[in-house]
Amino acid sequence: MRILISNDDGYFAPGIEKLAEVASAFGDVTVIAPERDRSGASNSLTLDRPLSVRVAHNGFLYVNGTPTDCVHIAVTGLLEHKPDIVLSGINDGANMGDDTIYSGTVAAAMEGYLLGVPSIAFSLARRGHEHLDTAAEVARRLLARHARQRLPTPILLNVNVPARPLAELRGVQVTRLGRRHLAEPVVRTTSPRGDTIYWIGPAGGAKEAGPGTDFHAVDSGWASVTPLDIDLTAPRALRVVRDWVEAGDA
Ligand code: MN
Repeated sequence: MRILISNDDGYFAPGIEKLAEVASAFGDVTVIAPERDRSGASNSLTLDRPLSVRVAHNGFLYVNGTPTDCVHIAVTGLLEHKPDIVLSGINDGANMGDDTIYSGTVAAAMEGYLLGVPSIAFSLARRGHEHLDTAAEVARRLLARHARQRLPTPILLNVNVPARPLAELRGVQVTRLGRRHLAEPVVRTTSPRGDTIYWIGPAGGAKEAGPGTDFHAVDSGWASVTPLDIDLTAPRALRVVRDWVEAGDA
């Protein structure tokens, strides 16, 4: 199996090393990741300058671009063969509910999916790498499953693993995305030179987090596996908007 791995925390992050280690038991692994932390980069492509691919001492490739750039470069030109699967992560922190809109971890997997490769994003649901081994074991189990029975193409999975010892992991649950409350306000402060500056505030807490959601599964000790799609059409708004637009014509 040909496995392509990326992330948004950077090529030096403990999570990507762990994921590459797990994946190496299942086939040929190529790691290509941003040269610095690009968490929150979402699906951005770098279009205003060229990109360089360099090789780290451990063989990982790193790029002066975004997670999406990395997977795009690898699949559309750098790799001799199309990968059989794209993996992203293991992210340092959760990517549940609305996080998936901003996440570079999910974006790297989404780029694989857009290019026709089954793709999985992995996140450890609490920052700090504690119990990274638990997330690695969930990745190992899903890869083993994929090795026995390939995921139907195309598919995009978003996996979040609770930060707890493996013995306390209850299993893997298929979920839907929950929703968060509105983000906390920006933090306004003053730079050393006296300018007003702003820090983007933290994400809101879980709002829609009932049974069946990723928030609920992870909170109750399960790893969540949410299949994602990209069509942003709001089917429930079609009728309302059609009525609204047509009323304007009258
Ligand atoms: Mn990240």
